[in-house]
Amino acid sequence: PKVFSVLGIPVHVMSNYPGWLLECLQHSRGTHVVTLNAEMTMQAERNSALAQVIHDAELVIPDGAGVVLYLQWLFWQKVQRCPGIELAETLLREIGQKQKGAKVFFYGGAPGVAAKTADFWQQQAPDLNIVGTHSGYHSPDEEAQLHQTLTQLQPQVILVGLGVPRQELWIAKNRHLCPQAIWIGVGGSLDIWSG
Ligand code: UDP
Repeated sequence: PKVFSVLGIPVHVMSNYPGWLLECLQHSRGTHVVTLNAEMTMQAERNSALAQVIHDAELVIPDGAGVVLYLQWLFWQKVQRCPGIELAETLLREIGQKQKGAKVFFYGGAPGVAAKTADFWQQQAPDLNIVGTHSGYHSPDEEAQLHQTLTQLQPQVILVGLGVPRQELWIAKNRHLCPQAIWIGVGGSLDIWSG
């Protein structure tokens, strides 16, 4: 990908994000995907831990219209906006068709939301191999249990919907549990998929 700086934050520009991620999946290349919008860049200015995590992410996509406009104005780049939820949807559909065995995990949302999301996706893509879910509100004990679950299951695609910046910080801290996985912070997407 080409890398551009938006207020000091790197953004990766390419034509086919889902294709790039499918390749990561094929080669077991661990990847953290950040879906960048204007609010997040402003948060990163105040929150250096968040800024560092975004810098370290393998893929930062232009999710917000503001980010896209900025890239177009400053760099004269033709940039396609890529909303995170659409990227996740395309990726899950393609995995369901082309890489049926790939293990998918949903984490986040109020109790029941991740499980309902799994039901929704199992209907949308019957061949998708959803191996587990976990709600986003829990005790430290349950957090330890979640770590154990992830370590044992080794999901290959982990969608984390805890909101910004919680999900980015959580992924950076825990991605070593499944070093070969694609980790995507999906914000409120689980709420949308679960209805
Ligand atoms: N959330 C969670 N655990 C928390 C705080 C939030 O699972 O401790 C979930 C919340 O239920 C919602 C999502 O995180 O599903 C945040 O969605 P929001 O639309 O606020 O995300 P953002 O705007 O940051 O993308």
